[in-house]
Amino acid sequence: MALNGLHNGITFIVTRRCPLQCEHCVMESGPEYRDHLTGADMKAWLYEAHQIGVTRASYSGGDPVLMLRDLSEALVYGRELGMINSVFTSAFWAPSVERGVSTLRRLAAVDILGISTSPHHQRFVPLERVANAVVAADEAGVRGVEVQVSSFRRDAVSLEARLRELLPQRLRDVRVRHQSIFAAGRAATAMTIPEGEYLPLASLDMSCPAPALTVEPDGLLRGCCSSLLALKEHNPLILGDLRSERFVDVAGRAARSAHYQTIRSEGLAPIVRMLERDGLGASIPRLAVNACDLCFRLYAQPNVAAHVRERFAE
Ligand code: SF4
Ligand code: SF4
Repeated sequence: MALNGLHNGITFIVTRRCPLQCEHCVMESGPEYRDHLTGADMKAWLYEAHQIGVTRASYSGGDPVLMLRDLSEALVYGRELGMINSVFTSAFWAPSVERGVSTLRRLAAVDILGISTSPHHQRFVPLERVANAVVAADEAGVRGVEVQVSSFRRDAVSLEARLRELLPQRLRDVRVRHQSIFAAGRAATAMTIPEGEYLPLASLDMSCPAPALTVEPDGLLRGCCSSLLALKEHNPLILGDLRSERFVDVAGRAARSAHYQTIRSEGLAPIVRMLERDGLGASIPRLAVNACDLCFRLYAQPNVAAHVRERFAE
């Protein structure tokens, strides 16, 4: 079986456990979680994903670096399969460059290190650790490094500028990507999103930015690695259970799912048009921070999730 239009990446939420407990966390991660994927779990699914043409593997959380041995095992196996390996972490493990290099040497098969930070990370993991991790990645020979700044739009530039100042001149051009904070997961109750963050739908990019096949520690394969992970129930993009079904069967069903394929390839615009046509316009938010905010607020309404599912089943 080929990919048949599925995304070419698989993301493992290795654990929801995280040493941090950020107010904006979509995953509602924190130190209390114990569930995690084992190296054996991930290797089995990597093998099957590779068989259907998946070429990229990402490891996220929570913080996957907490599960160093399992993570390392999966990375080594992914590299043997020829996959591009990315790891996303807060860099809690880099109180110094030396400690950072020592951790990265145990993750030698990582190709791309994604380091997340935000104004809310600072009380747990200050920017100095992020800078240490960038330097450590350079010293350990990691091929690609990217820093992801999650913030309100108004704070994005200053955090990025402070980080660049902390870096040695030769690393100041590190790639930085910005992500807006919105009210899903813990942020839905712990934060107030300023009005200025919202855009009218007419000026919103409604394409789906993160449609990777995503596995959480429960073994359920999802078709979203962003805010729909916050939906414990009514999640329309749960594609199947890898602990009871073969990967190839779940992937085959996902490839034939008009609902998943529409969101993945065309984004939310067709869904919004469908809801308007079907008389559910009152359920559509008029403003949203970004596509994932809109997506979460649509599908968090059980009647909307059920309606869309039924319409695509017709
Ligand atoms: S936002 Fe990231 S660093 Fe913060 S609690 Fe969630 S997973 Fe951990
Ligand atoms: S648009 Fe929806 S399905 Fe796509 S990544 Fe965002 S939350 Fe997930």
